[in-house]
Amino acid sequence: MSPLEQTVYLWLEERGVRITEIAELTFFLQSDFYSDVTMEECIENVQMVLTKREVQNAVLTGIQLDILAEKEILREPLLQMIRSDEGLYGIDEVMSLAILNVYGSIGFTNYGYIDRLKPGILCRLNSKSDGKIHTYLDDLVAAIAAAAASRLAHTRSHTSSLID
Ligand code: MG
Repeated sequence: MSPLEQTVYLWLEERGVRITEIAELTFFLQSDFYSDVTMEECIENVQMVLTKREVQNAVLTGIQLDILAEKEILREPLLQMIRSDEGLYGIDEVMSLAILNVYGSIGFTNYGYIDRLKPGILCRLNSKSDGKIHTYLDDLVAAIAAAAASRLAHTRSHTSSLID
């Protein structure tokens, strides 16, 4: 595992996100389509998504902005927009597109679906119950899970041997 990838795992853990919780979202997305899908398979797909540089860069950038907002060292008007997770800000969702782009269109619909429903860890990150700012992190986690679901679907189809 590269140092960058290790940092991604460390920062996710520090922000209270476990890989299994992301994989649970992937499982939630795919268990209706594949009755035999396993958590192990979902975890493996999440791990593969996290090997991508585009994904690593988005995760580190987003988490850093959340932390800077928490420490109140961003300049206004950005600070208030990120601290309050303002509805019209939207750049947190745009950042997630960098992740979704890697694995194609299934990822986009899956992302929209769990972004709306907010199952599992997304509910917790959104509730602000731990007193932390997760304006970027909730979208990043949803995007990783959705990209993993897309990868899983592609890997299971017969024409997908080129997916890495
Ligand atoms: Mg957000």
